[in-house]
Amino acid sequence: MPAKLLDGKALALEIRAEIAEEVAAFVSKNSVTPCLAAVLVGEDPASQVYVRNKERACQKAGITSRMERLPAETTTEELLALIEELNGDAEVHGILVQLPLPSHCDEQLILDAILPAKDVDAFHPENVGLISQGRPRLLPCTPHGIQELLVRNNIETSGAEVVVLGRSDIVGKPMGLMLVQKAVGANATVTIAHSRTKNLAEVTRRADILIVAMGVPEFVTGEMVKPGATVIDVGINRTDEGKLVGDVNFAQAQEVAGAITPVPGGVGPLTVAMLLHNTLAAAKASCS
Ligand code: NDP
Repeated sequence: MPAKLLDGKALALEIRAEIAEEVAAFVSKNSVTPCLAAVLVGEDPASQVYVRNKERACQKAGITSRMERLPAETTTEELLALIEELNGDAEVHGILVQLPLPSHCDEQLILDAILPAKDVDAFHPENVGLISQGRPRLLPCTPHGIQELLVRNNIETSGAEVVVLGRSDIVGKPMGLMLVQKAVGANATVTIAHSRTKNLAEVTRRADILIVAMGVPEFVTGEMVKPGATVIDVGINRTDEGKLVGDVNFAQAQEVAGAITPVPGGVGPLTVAMLLHNTLAAAKASCS
């Protein structure tokens, strides 16, 4: 029997509607409108699409979005000055720097300059440290979206063997860190696998929940999936024919898995929903 489809798009709309209601209540109570400042440097087409989607999602939720579009030649110093200005602007609650930045920019320095309370991507070392200690201020959007997807689909994480394939600071590492916490939607036994992992298929076949964030089109085959497992595909890859595919061979994996996310329409929309959640959370914290 083919796997149950985990519809991230529908869930994201549900979460966004909940957030819109919360935003309206927050605005009427505090007379403050949550505001996200998005910084986009250069003309990367994928980044333009991502930022436009985030901007539209903000508008629909009643969140103000301030766009800072800068030319590709913008220097690290100029970006740092902009971040400093946004940090000091009481009307801005969340700051997002769309990655990747042009190669001449010092990405780490720029991300580290964002005030932790406004760091809606939760990349700042202070926020990562708080997550690691189990007392998060803000959670990173993609892993948080995945956790919501698991919880709201009643997929038990407590005691589950979770394998996260990929160890990036954006997805893999924080995902593992969040799922190992003593918390609802966590308490899992976590393995983080990567390009140096030996006998990868043996490792992934142990997973009750397999989360794949590699950036390698259709890498995970049916044989790498344990029968009945939940498969979460984070990957977004464009084929030469222009088709969007994930890091999992969907046709093969859905024959083996118990539940699986599609690409597109799986994790991607949830990432945007959790960005709205974080912007509202940052605005609430600024008023408390
Ligand atoms: P990175 O390139 O930063 O990390 C990829 C990870 O995969 C690395 O840890 C790497 O290992 C591992 N890896 C790569 N090839 C192999 C291999 N052959 N065997 C085992 N491990 C391997 O990617 P990101 O985490 O930033 O993104 C991953 C994917 O998720 C991309 O397709 C990206 O577009 C997508 N993405 C989607 C989002 C969404 O909202 N849906 C949000 C963010 C990302 P090593 O560390 O050893 O090099």
